[in-house]
Amino acid sequence: MTVQNADRATAADDPAAGGPGEALEVWIDQDLCTGDGICAQYAPEVFELDIDGLAYVKSADDELLQEPGATTRVPLPLLADVRDSAKDCPGDCIHVRRVSDKVEVYGPDAA
Ligand code: SF4
Repeated sequence: MTVQNADRATAADDPAAGGPGEALEVWIDQDLCTGDGICAQYAPEVFELDIDGLAYVKSADDELLQEPGATTRVPLPLLADVRDSAKDCPGDCIHVRRVSDKVEVYGPDAA
């Protein structure tokens, strides 16, 4: 488990995320979601499968956001879990971007 933890990034040690204080948001392209549920396993506070079998992001109030392209803020303590969700998402459809300039830092459109 030590190796796995060592691979986990925080905002403080990940330049891509912009460092501490850089707010991130995440959205899912449901058109590409396979419904496997990996994201909801990694970060159930942020992702949830709906009755249609597709994953959606949730608001800070635990509300499922079903509008296309809906975003939610990434809580800093969950950054590693959300990042890993984007990296392991088989649909390549989880997009994590900076709130400030909308640049994607994790996901299929990340530089
Ligand atoms: S990991 Fe990706 S493909 Fe799988 S349920 Fe989540 S968003 Fe959909």
